[in-house]
Amino acid sequence: MTPRILIAGNWKMNGLGGDGLALVRAVAQSVSAEALKCDVLICPPATLLREAKGVIAGTSVALGAQDCHTDAKGAHTGDISAEMLKDCGCGFVIVGHSERRTDHGETDAQVRAKAEAARRGGLTAIVCIGETLQQRDAGQAIAVVTRQLASSVPDGANAANTVIAYEPVWAIGTGRTPTNPEIAEVHGRIRVELTTRFRDGAEFRILYGGSVNAKNAAEILRVEHVNGGLVGGASLDAQSFLAICRSAV
Ligand code: PEP
Repeated sequence: MTPRILIAGNWKMNGLGGDGLALVRAVAQSVSAEALKCDVLICPPATLLREAKGVIAGTSVALGAQDCHTDAKGAHTGDISAEMLKDCGCGFVIVGHSERRTDHGETDAQVRAKAEAARRGGLTAIVCIGETLQQRDAGQAIAVVTRQLASSVPDGANAANTVIAYEPVWAIGTGRTPTNPEIAEVHGRIRVELTTRFRDGAEFRILYGGSVNAKNAAEILRVEHVNGGLVGGASLDAQSFLAICRSAV
């Protein structure tokens, strides 16, 4: 069975109280008003999660966070555990986003531990992988992604507790995207790796992320083994985000 499309908005470090919650409300209202052919997830900053949960209550919009610590609790100043995110109403958490790998030096082993923590805390982990431009230009994209997938996804993963997001680093926030055959090649390889390793590998959702917008979403979502999108910039505008959600057919 083809996995149902998931459109996930990653707000990154954007959104203050009033405006942020107004955006949550706008997304929730517009998603509820339509019979969309996709699941919709928003991942606002941690500061908005608990209130956002109240705003989306009773709608089909799901809530996620952008990172979690590996431990459930303890002496980790400034960090947030998967259990705390669950307590705030989250169902998902992004782990291993390239901005965390770059800004915080997160390794595949740490990303894997975070994905395990997400499972322990009852969250679905969205595990991000993707090559840099230098790696793509050197013809290493498939090798890099395959290695990250093997090292970042824990053995206990299944289609219910794990989503894979292929995000070429050079496409994030740049307005550049790979060609459809390039996306198809990577997603096809990810699918092969998942089905080889996991019994339900055919059912994992594999999202594409990197400069998805209202104009290119329909075409990207038609690529084989693309089961949704992880959307950064365009998720900060309710109309653009909704247009991307409508592209799922
Ligand atoms: C992201 O943050 O995961 C992302 C893909 O950003 P953007 O859509 O802005 O490229």
